[in-house]
Amino acid sequence: MLLLDGRLVPGTGGSFETINPATEEVLGTAADATAADMDRAIGAARRAFDETGWAADHAFRARCLRQLRDGLRRRAEELREMTIREVGAPRFLTFGAQLDAPVGDLGWFADLVESYAWESDLGRAEPMGMPSHRRVRREAVGVVGAITPWNFPHQINLAKLGPALAAGNTVVLKPAPDTPWCAAVLGEVIAEETDIPAGVVNVVTSSDHGLGAQLTRDPRVDLVSFTGSTATGREVMASAAGTLKRVFLELGGKSAFIVLDDADLRAACSYAAFSGVAHAGQGCAITTRILVPRERYAEAAEITAGTLAKLGAGDPADDRTICGPVISARQRERVEGYLELAVKEGGSFACGGGRPADRDKGFWIEPTLITGLSNEARAAREEIFGPVLVLLPHDGDDDAVRIANDSPYGLSGAVHGGDVERARSVARRLRTGTVSVNGGVWYGADVPFGGYKQSGIGREMGVAGFEEYLETKAIAEGL
Ligand code: NAD
Repeated sequence: MLLLDGRLVPGTGGSFETINPATEEVLGTAADATAADMDRAIGAARRAFDETGWAADHAFRARCLRQLRDGLRRRAEELREMTIREVGAPRFLTFGAQLDAPVGDLGWFADLVESYAWESDLGRAEPMGMPSHRRVRREAVGVVGAITPWNFPHQINLAKLGPALAAGNTVVLKPAPDTPWCAAVLGEVIAEETDIPAGVVNVVTSSDHGLGAQLTRDPRVDLVSFTGSTATGREVMASAAGTLKRVFLELGGKSAFIVLDDADLRAACSYAAFSGVAHAGQGCAITTRILVPRERYAEAAEITAGTLAKLGAGDPADDRTICGPVISARQRERVEGYLELAVKEGGSFACGGGRPADRDKGFWIEPTLITGLSNEARAAREEIFGPVLVLLPHDGDDDAVRIANDSPYGLSGAVHGGDVERARSVARRLRTGTVSVNGGVWYGADVPFGGYKQSGIGREMGVAGFEEYLETKAIAEGL
């Protein structure tokens, strides 16, 4: 069902199927919204913003966010199984970023509503000789159009809904067609278990990508918060320019994992392999270029390939699985296209390189390590979004930083080294929004996440992420 103006309703376009990527089994159907449904959703969000006290009542919003968190927690086990089946997410990730963490993070945004300094006092001044008392208020932007991808649906849906609602906005959520259930359940919980007023949140599942574009054009929408590919992000920005709405973009990446020459090579390469193919590499911030000292390249290839081969690709429902399927036949085709390209460009596979022999159903790619390419190769530069890593040699710290930064992207990165101060100094030179040093985990409700360069504009999560959804108003009183 769609959530439109406070009611759970079918889509006027009928329904569309959602598929288990591990088995190709049709799980069931989701409501298929049309442009007319989207129009109603935007109208409802506009009215709820303009005509209710939602934006002004901080305490009420904090309470509603906690109700949403608690309602989702009550359904956690059902949601866990659904996420594994619809997203192909390995079970272990549902205890973190694929489910439990983002649900819990709603509480952090509820707390922030209560502690945030909504108004600050700049005191008296006499500009041009006119005595004035100046104050600065932070206010909601208005109607937020949230457009999300399929890879971490709960994390991304809630990392938009949480701060957008906390800030006092109303929202129209347009999830990816591949994972409609993960969004529809939010609509159900909001309608059935929270006091969130009608129209404040609208959830519009659809098989039609055009509904996302509709949100970006509609003059009633004040801000578009988009997560997805860089190519679509570009279209979103261009289309939003027509009505000069604010855009917030979380896009693709091709992040580097730098192993310095004083690192424990075995530990670092094993970790790079594990983190690189978790959820079949379908994470925007996954470090997919592994940079190792040139003189130890062969050894690094052996360790990384050995770990990848041991991990294999497995049933996401199994709690030992790290790498599950990719989301769709289309995504598998895209990944296979890059595997072919890597070979044409002179690369070879130290492990993997195709579909696993033991699976005839589902969208599978073996964990793969490409060797023998330079950072100029397209397979080394472009986002593949599959369980495919590229091993590149570097000639010392400066060279590693140069290669890592030689990318149109700037989302994330990792540095491993024996001397922590040296590793830290390399981390500081990376032009990316997040960096892990020696396995440090930056993910958290209070940590801003986002990209430099073509990886995006703005930050999600943390106070910085919350403030993306606020306007700033200065009020001066004559004295
Ligand atoms: P996508 O860009 O194809 O689609 C994302 C969303 O945009 C979907 O809801 C889709 O329906 C909608 N859409 C498609 N065309 C549109 C248009 N013209 N205007 C408005 N909306 C439109 O991305 P995807 O394949 O669903 O997800 C994978 C991509 O997302 C990868 O590139 C990945 O790196 C990126 N991603 C980025 C982050 C991040 O935080 N930086 C997080 C997760 C995924």
